[in-house]
Parts: sequence; C-alpha cells; structure tokens
Amino acid sequence: MASPYLFENYRRMPIRFTHGRGVRLYDEEGHEYLDFLAGLATSSLGHAHPRLVEAIHEQASRYLHVSNLYEIPKQEEAAEALVKASRRTTKGPVRGLDRVFFCNSGAEANEAVIKLVRRWAFDRHQGDGAPRHEIVVFENGFHGRTLGALAATPTPAYQRGFAPLPAGFVAVPFNDLAALEAAISDRTCAVLVEPIQGEGGVVVGDEDYLRGVQRLCGEHDLLFLLDEVQTGVGRTGEMFAFQGLGLEPDAITLAKGLGGGVPVGAVLAQNDLAQHLVPGTHGTTFGGNPLACSAALTVLSVIESEGLLERVRESGTRLQRGLQSLGEMSGRVLEVRGRGLMWAACLDGSAANLVTACLESRTGSVGLLANAVRPDTVRFLPPLIVSVAEVDEALARLEQELSRLAPGEATPVAAR
Ligand code: PLP
Repeated sequence: MASPYLFENYRRMPIRFTHGRGVRLYDEEGHEYLDFLAGLATSSLGHAHPRLVEAIHEQASRYLHVSNLYEIPKQEEAAEALVKASRRTTKGPVRGLDRVFFCNSGAEANEAVIKLVRRWAFDRHQGDGAPRHEIVVFENGFHGRTLGALAATPTPAYQRGFAPLPAGFVAVPFNDLAALEAAISDRTCAVLVEPIQGEGGVVVGDEDYLRGVQRLCGEHDLLFLLDEVQTGVGRTGEMFAFQGLGLEPDAITLAKGLGGGVPVGAVLAQNDLAQHLVPGTHGTTFGGNPLACSAALTVLSVIESEGLLERVRESGTRLQRGLQSLGEMSGRVLEVRGRGLMWAACLDGSAANLVTACLESRTGSVGLLANAVRPDTVRFLPPLIVSVAEVDEALARLEQELSRLAPGEATPVAAR
C-alpha cells in the first residue's frame, strides 16, 4: 500500500523488493524477477555485485564524507579512471576528455555543464557587447527535472506549470541538420544533444547526423556537448557512446550507471573548457563524495576486468535479434530501436499492458521488469552483466505475454 507519508509524485507499481543477486530481484512474496530495467539504466553491475559491495563497505568503514574543502584520493582515482577510459576504445586510442567535475545526478551534471558553457561564453565574449549564451537543444530530448535541465527539455508535459524557466534554450527537431543550422545565431554558444534519446523512447541519433552536429559546432565556434547520462558507462557497447561514433565532444555528462546504484554524476570536459570554472563559480557538498567515488571506480574497473563491453555487444545483439524475431512471429512488434543494451520495442498497442503482464507471476516463469517509455513503446535496459541465457529467458517471457494479450485488448495508455 502506498505510504501516506510520501509525496505522491511517482506512479509506483505495488511491488516491494527484498533483495537482488546479479540480474535477478526478489520481492516480499518470494517472486523472482529478471531485472531488464536496472533501476532506469543505473544498476550497471546488477544487484549485490561482490566487488561493489566490498568497495562500499571498505570505504564506509574508513569515512563516508569529508567535503571538497580537502583532497579526496578516491575522487582523484575515479577522475583518472574516467579520463583514461574516455581516451581508449575497443578499436584504439581517441582524443577523449581531460578533467572531471563530480556531482550527484544527471540533472546536476547538466546544470553544471550549462553553467560551464555560459561561463566559457561570458569569459570569451563579454567584451564583444553581444552576449552569447544560447544553447540549442532537441525536441523529445530529456536532461532532467531541475529548472535549468528542465529548460533544456522542451517537452510541454514536463515543463507545464513551472514557468518562468531559465531563458537561453532554443529547441529544434532531432535528426534534422538543416533545422539545427537554421537555429544557430550570433547568440548561440553550444549544442547539447543525447546520442540516443532515452526517455524520448530510445530514438537513435543517425551517425552522419551526429557527426554533422559536431561539424556545425566547429564551423560556428560552438561547444559540442553530449548528454551521456543514459548512454554512458558501457550501455551502448563502448564505454561512452561518443567513442563508438567517432565523435570528439567538448564535454559530456554522466550519471545513472556510473555508480552502479550509488548516486553519482559527472561532467567530463576538455582542459581549455574546464578551466572556466574557477574557485567560487560552482560546487556541491556531496559531489565526488568518497563513497560515491569508490563505487564509480569499482564500476569502471569491473567493466574492464569482466570484459563487460564485449558482453554488452553480445547480449545486446541477442536482445535486438530476439525482439525483431518476436515482431516477425507475432506481428505485434512494429519497430525495434536501440544499441548495445538500450532497446525499445514499439508495439501495436499498449506498452503498459505488456509491462504489467510481464510482472505477474506465472507458473514456471519468472517476472520481467521493463518499462513503458511511451504509450506504445516498451524499453529494456538490463544490467551490463546480463548473459545471453538471461536474455533468452526474458524473450521467452515476453513471447508468452505477447501471445496472451489480444491485439484488440491493447488500448493506448495516457501519455506521461
Ligand atoms: N539526462 C538523460 C539523458 C537522462 O536520461 C536522465 C534521466 O533519465 C537525466 C539526464 C536526468 O538524470 P537524473 O534523473 O539523475 O537527474
């Protein structure tokens, strides 16, 4: 039963988990679930990964917090690991990024990058008499719920009732280079884009398009910013999506999978950009806290030592093909979109009905956690550790439920 003591700002499923192991979660009634949502792309190592448990325990037994008034060795180590990971891909070295600012969430990382580019533009152009502070963002994009991040998220359903939002954001359609070019003016200082629009329904940015965005940024002296809060930290089969796309962003934002479930966000930026946040310009009490950085360091180290990028590609291909053949067999899946372990299946009816059906316990099969990211679209974001066998198990459950739900029964759910 919902708590009378909590705000009612979430639509929660009536399930209470007691514990998890790997890709599986267990509830109070003893039901078992395959977690193909990973706490919204966050539990990157699954549940109760022994190395993450040990790292958190070890740090907690020393000290949890000291503040950024002091040097924090774990923060330095995590920053070094992130920078080094940004410069190395499965195909060889790339330019990557130089410096890290730690915070606590995706919205906060985007707030920080917005302040960073405004300060860059201010320092660079204040003498020109023409302020350049506008950031171009994209329709259907999502950058978080704080006021700045919300201003960069031009979806009326998210923004309604929260005016006035900070000014200085111009929205254009995604995957449309001409529209972006037309929106660039002498007030523009940056472009902020998700390589794959996750909350928007896993809408993949065309590779040529994203390279075109980067080219336009170069031509117009704009900063090229990637929101990798959902695509980063292994999710697409490279450590960061920009690496697989051959891009060279000026800054990226991260959160979600970075801490494996411990709240941590980050901005990674080139040296000449990072230097604009001088002491006193930005900060956070908790950001880069030793506990969060121990978790981030462990996640990065486990991705490497357990060969998880390879696993993401292998299990991801299995999930993609499985969803596609489910579509061919049932005729109920109209489109499959995604990359790595970030997939959406567009249905001929209500995604919420399928998600709810998959949760229910059935004899001989485990529950399956996924989410309805749009009224007709189910999203799958399993932990990076998911095996091909677990993908097959999830696909079998999906097939079972798709065959139970008659096409006519699927009434569209209201948009979020
Ligand atoms: N950016 C992207 C691409 C996201 O997907 C999200 C969350 O879904 C955010 C930012 C906001 O992150 P958080 O919820 O940690 O503030």
